[in-house]
Amino acid sequence: MPDPLSTNVQNLKASETVAISNEAKRRKAAGEDVYDLGVGEPDFDTPAPAVQAGIQAIQRGMTRYPPNVGIAELRRGIAGQLSRMSGGRSVDPDQIVVSSGSKQSIFNACFTLFGSKDRVLIPSPAWVSYPQIVHLSRAEPVLVPGDVEWGLKVSAKDLDRHHTTSTRGLILCSPCNPTGAVYTLPELRSIAEWARKHEVWIIADEIYRRINYGSGPAPSLLDLPDELLERTVIIYGASKAYAMTGWRIGAALAPPHLTKAMAALQSHTTTGANHPAQWAAAAAFTDDKVDGEVNRMVAAFRRRRDYLVERFRSAAPGIEFVEPHGAFYFFFRVDGIREKDPVTGTSFCEQLMKQEGVALVPGGAFADDRWVRLSYAVSDAELEAALDRILRLIQRLESARAA
Ligand code: PMP
Ligand code: GLU
Repeated sequence: MPDPLSTNVQNLKASETVAISNEAKRRKAAGEDVYDLGVGEPDFDTPAPAVQAGIQAIQRGMTRYPPNVGIAELRRGIAGQLSRMSGGRSVDPDQIVVSSGSKQSIFNACFTLFGSKDRVLIPSPAWVSYPQIVHLSRAEPVLVPGDVEWGLKVSAKDLDRHHTTSTRGLILCSPCNPTGAVYTLPELRSIAEWARKHEVWIIADEIYRRINYGSGPAPSLLDLPDELLERTVIIYGASKAYAMTGWRIGAALAPPHLTKAMAALQSHTTTGANHPAQWAAAAAFTDDKVDGEVNRMVAAFRRRRDYLVERFRSAAPGIEFVEPHGAFYFFFRVDGIREKDPVTGTSFCEQLMKQEGVALVPGGAFADDRWVRLSYAVSDAELEAALDRILRLIQRLESARAA
């Protein structure tokens, strides 16, 4: 028997999204005919001005330790971007901490805000890493199931049902991974008012904010008045809208005392994010050409979303799904395919990989195994071919039920 590990990791499970992606990559490398619609990672290349800025940073010798909280150019670039998206509201770059991906930003925020005996509400289905990060902070993740009739979103009333005097935080993701649902501004306002009343911190994960199929970026807590934002952390980053997942640049915007604590924490863990990558991201957030690229990528995601929805509606009309308004995920329900011996997200994904060579993520990874998540951040050709296979499996399972 190996020595027991620390209680720090007693609840720790490795990320299922990362594991599925690694497995799909392994199969592809081994020459298997596999489509990976599992991982949420844009298929586009990082826009050229950001790449150039990264290369030049290396050539200019920006290869030493960065400032721990991030280079001023990047913090200003992020503040400017957040400000522009929210009608020019003032955003202070000094309240931004740059990290190695927004995953670390969320970790920094949770670790500095929460501790044992605290409860943190997480609307569910929820992105895999939220409950794990809350556990690592020794707090208790409390899943709040979203309403099926309402894109699996939660309301202040739902939060209220799970609230106790120990509730200290709420992690809200909009546009949402894994569902693609987007909270409207009135919905955000009502949740922010609820949080203020109960003195609950909101960690607003807005990493997908620009990938929104309404007009402009998705509504944000930053669109609300200051008095509703006293206990708010905004999470943003370069990975998704800027196709920069591998550069590992994320950010948190928070009140000054929290910014200071997150910076101190990070000074003992990473000493700041990769230095050349920060220069690349600074270009991404400020260069007009990149802005145009982002708009083109979002238009491509929208086109794929429309295609996907249309194909599901025509070829699998019995399959329920969440109307996707943002991010690049499509969340569909499989438990109704067979009434007796219901299909689960896990069994569906296993059969799909084995019989059709397509990787998707079972809803169980997001705490609801009645569903399956598909990422359409893949090329049009891959999406079309993978969809043929997915719909073929659904039709096979449905005809087995009818027989
Ligand atoms: N939040 C959400 C909702 C995500 O889907 C991801 C994807 N990895 C992240 C945060 C973290 O992204 P990154 O660390 O690449 O910024
Ligand atoms: N966020 C992406 C996903 O959900 C990337 C993998 C991860 O970090 O979880 O697939």
